[in-house]
Amino acid sequence: MSADPDYIDDFARFLQASPSSYHAVAESARRLDAAGFARLDETEVWGTDSGRRYVVRDGAIVAWIQPDRAQTTTPFRILGAHTDSPGFTLKPKPTIGSNGWLQAGVEVYGGPLLNSWLDRELELAGRLVTRDGAEHLVRTGPFLRIPQLAIHLDRDVNNGLTLDKQRHLTPVFGVGNPGETDLVAHLATLAGVTAIDVVGYDIVTADTAAPTRFGLDGSLFAAGRMDNLSSVHAGLIALLRTAEDADHISVLAAFDHEELGSESRSGASGPLLDGILTRIGAGLGASVSDRLRAYAASWCVSADAGHAVHPNYPERHDPANLPIAGGGPLLKINANQRYATDAVGAALWARLCQQAGVAYQEFVSNNTVPCGSTIGPLTATRLGIRVVDVGVPLLSMHSARELCHVDDPVALSAAIGAFFAGG
Ligand code: ZN
Repeated sequence: MSADPDYIDDFARFLQASPSSYHAVAESARRLDAAGFARLDETEVWGTDSGRRYVVRDGAIVAWIQPDRAQTTTPFRILGAHTDSPGFTLKPKPTIGSNGWLQAGVEVYGGPLLNSWLDRELELAGRLVTRDGAEHLVRTGPFLRIPQLAIHLDRDVNNGLTLDKQRHLTPVFGVGNPGETDLVAHLATLAGVTAIDVVGYDIVTADTAAPTRFGLDGSLFAAGRMDNLSSVHAGLIALLRTAEDADHISVLAAFDHEELGSESRSGASGPLLDGILTRIGAGLGASVSDRLRAYAASWCVSADAGHAVHPNYPERHDPANLPIAGGGPLLKINANQRYATDAVGAALWARLCQQAGVAYQEFVSNNTVPCGSTIGPLTATRLGIRVVDVGVPLLSMHSARELCHVDDPVALSAAIGAFFAGG
């Protein structure tokens, strides 16, 4: 049984409120507003006083706590994560169809496990932008489905499913004539705007099944988008509990577009975080030298979901490093700097987990199965700040519905809490 059932229930609510990166940012902003964080506009002059602030840039959000005693060389403690998840995005002219079916034109976003997206009730979610430039969040609830071909029409399917990304992944959302239907108008109606005014959109698909505890004692947890909302939520909860008397500036940086490589204005390879840290430092009166001294004493914990050992494929893991679900958050290590962890970072993570009273476990790849990467190495490269890569162990990463142990997200959040507390 989970040590903290309230945490996993709150995580489930966060996931349900966050079908797209834009929704994840809006839900984070809503919680920050309720806790007294002030939203800053990037085009305005920022105040220099201490306090709780945040900035939203498209599907990214950066929030921080500047303590009263902050000076020009006060270091930063940054929790880095990402708001986006693999799936599909809505193409232009999306209302299509054939043979009596209404269908939506979609493009593959990132690296989803395509088979896992079949035969699920999906929703469309994201933002519409009207001619005046205003953004409008929208979500449909259960709306479409990518139907799998019946086994009678594909007798060999269980010997290997092959999906053509253009032909076989087009979801249905009704029957009728696509010439007489307008999917964008439907979204506009849901958003309360006039269809003809909608001239741009960033819309993704999301599984609509509710997050669920299951298994013996309800110890397992299934949901979509745990890569990487498990880290965004853990960081947000930790920041909301952080006091204002630290010797550093605590920062939550949740970027968009990690699943595409992070190269965008709201991605970790862009100047978003550097710009905000520079502006905070400038507000404190920091010179370039002061800022670099602050960076030299700063830390970033890069949190992103990782892999628990799969009981049916243990040979895909390093035989000496087999992270188990419920064994605590991962410390992610890679000789090729696909993760930024080094020995100093490993020691920090050991210290934080000890202070939080949680276990942790190392992840390292089998030499024949190269791992993915995270925003960790990008942040280390871009800012020169020390970075350690960590995260919740999952099964079925990039599935429409991933799996973790209920104890691991709360343990991650506790360790991040120790990080923000100065451990
Ligand atoms: Zn991820």
